[in-house]
Amino acid sequence: MSILFAEKSWPEIDTYVKRKGLIILPIGQVEEHGPHLPLNTDIVIAEGVSVAVAEAVKDRHPALVMPGIWSGYSLKKMNRWPGVMSVRSEVLTEFIVDIMSSLVDMGFRKILTINAHGMNPEIIKLAARRISDRSDVHVATTSWWSLAAGTAKRIRKSEIGGELHAGEFETSLMLFLTDLVDMSKATNTDFMRYRSDFYAPDMFASAPGGTAFSTWYVQESKTGVYGDPTEASRETGEALMKGTVEMYVRLIDDYMRM
Ligand SMILES: [Zn+2]
Repeated sequence: MSILFAEKSWPEIDTYVKRKGLIILPIGQVEEHGPHLPLNTDIVIAEGVSVAVAEAVKDRHPALVMPGIWSGYSLKKMNRWPGVMSVRSEVLTEFIVDIMSSLVDMGFRKILTINAHGMNPEIIKLAARRISDRSDVHVATTSWWSLAAGTAKRIRKSEIGGELHAGEFETSLMLFLTDLVDMSKATNTDFMRYRSDFYAPDMFASAPGGTAFSTWYVQESKTGVYGDPTEASRETGEALMKGTVEMYVRLIDDYMRM
């Protein structure tokens, strides 16, 4: 049976409301990911993780996956690369609030967002706070890399600096989920070499107090990549997906008890 929200009829949705179902909302982006990956990398990953997570929990929790929000917000600086969409942050915030409000108004009490675009988390958290303020529904907001961190640190082949954007792990997930990757065009030219005590030079490194500078300013990218996609493999993507889904299952068990 389909776990896709949009493939249901209204009476079927009604049964999910009555069974206190979980809605999973994938959020991604259409933007450049170097010469070796397609523009839809973030939305493919957000939807791919969401579907795998819903399949993994559906015997314990009635879960449905929403159509993914395919365009997010990107810095203006990224306009130098053809293919980068950017929805203004205030428009995106209101759009996400309206999608969540629609779900709350039809009776859903549990909403989990699975984000895959680096410039979205603050916007999604703000939208979730607005939902908390106007209802007593508390949305669980996540980005896949937070749940993937333990697995990624264990299995990574690239050095720190190998994954910020279109590097080892995004490329590996795309190798696992699609046949859209052209590894002959993958280079490590834009491995993140910048180092500072206050800057995390990798998606799976951290800086004191969560300090963040924009990746896009600290080191100029020649190819649109920040990291090392040459270390990517389908096997790494499969192992990362497995570890990430296991963490999401634990998170959902907690969230549904709340
Ligand atoms: Zn990405």
